[in-house]
Amino acid sequence: MQVNAIAAMSATEPLQRTTIERRDVGESDVLIAIKYVGICHSDIHTVRGEWHEVTYPIVVGHEIAGVVEQVGAGVTKHRIGDKVGVGCFVDTCRECDNCRNGLDQYCAKQVGTYDSVGKDGQPTAGGYSTHIVVDENYVLRIPDGLKLDQAAPVLCAGVTLYSPLKHWQAGPGKHVGIIGLGGLGHMGVQIAHAMGAKVSVLSQSLKKKEDGERLGADHYYSTADETTFTDLRGQFDLILNTVSANLDLAQYLGLLKTGGSFVEVGAPEHPMQVPAFALIGQRRSLAGSMIGSIADTQEVLDFCAEHGFAAEVEVIDADDVNEAYERVVNSDVRYRFVIDTASLA
Ligand code: NAP
Ligand code: ZN
Repeated sequence: MQVNAIAAMSATEPLQRTTIERRDVGESDVLIAIKYVGICHSDIHTVRGEWHEVTYPIVVGHEIAGVVEQVGAGVTKHRIGDKVGVGCFVDTCRECDNCRNGLDQYCAKQVGTYDSVGKDGQPTAGGYSTHIVVDENYVLRIPDGLKLDQAAPVLCAGVTLYSPLKHWQAGPGKHVGIIGLGGLGHMGVQIAHAMGAKVSVLSQSLKKKEDGERLGADHYYSTADETTFTDLRGQFDLILNTVSANLDLAQYLGLLKTGGSFVEVGAPEHPMQVPAFALIGQRRSLAGSMIGSIADTQEVLDFCAEHGFAAEVEVIDADDVNEAYERVVNSDVRYRFVIDTASLA
């Protein structure tokens, strides 16, 4: 079927309206009428070719929330009318160690929601569109307590913070630092707080301090203030870096306690420099983490509903997407832009 979408035609031109083809609904497929799709900074890195060359035109979007419109004959997990979501991947090999051990986000044969090739050999296209067809095993249930527009960013931003917070055991007695209060960061603050950890935000300024505290931060610091790095030396068990640009890691690694972990989730275009002594002096760890598994994604959606929060969103029309990209790049987002796909009709 032909569906309306928004595509990037090149790395430098504004995104524009187009139509794309979605595959027929197969035996185990679900056809989803997309209602809202979040704008993740990864969409911007991708369309601007900041990570690698991509094939244009490209339709991005991997924070998808909508309603099931049709199901294949073999579908058992979802029914017509269900509120559902799709995150960053739409298939995996289902048999490797990672797939069998609940780490399917690290499957070498993972099929990305966009910028990837499906098992049918066709390029995948993301959620900046009115409909998508996805295998039922990669479709998540959106709990009744969550609004679709606020749930959409949980599918990437939410799980990307939930997975490392769970893995590195954020909770009571742990001091967690979140660098950057953007889409990922604002989910991280809420999740770490709900897990019972003490949470501090490290932001470029104090402009968003009130919001940070309302979202659950115990403390909020400006990294423009040099005393932040002296006052907080050796204070954190865990730091999650959500920044989309390169930071001076030496400064931030010094903020960890002995044995603390610095986890990179931001994906800047350029390599980072790691000073060995900032690690070896205090047996600190530097790690990375990518999104989360399908099971983690369901878990974080349920966790958000149970704790009564989701993403704070600014809902926009399709024609506002280019302006929204500029605002995200300028750290002027509170805290996730979400496209209302009714504007694509
Ligand atoms: P975002 O909404 O733009 O948030 C990033 C935040 O980083 C900004 O709001 C800003 O916070 C801070 N920041 C931006 N530029 C900075 C600079 N030059 N120096 C210091 N701080 C700066 O982006 P996002 O959607 O949360 O994504 C963040 C990064 O994570 C992107 O690189 C994205 O590709 C990546 N990502 C990774 C995964 C994964 O699986 N690991 C998943 C999704 C996204 P303040 O204003 O508070 O300083
Ligand atoms: Zn994302």
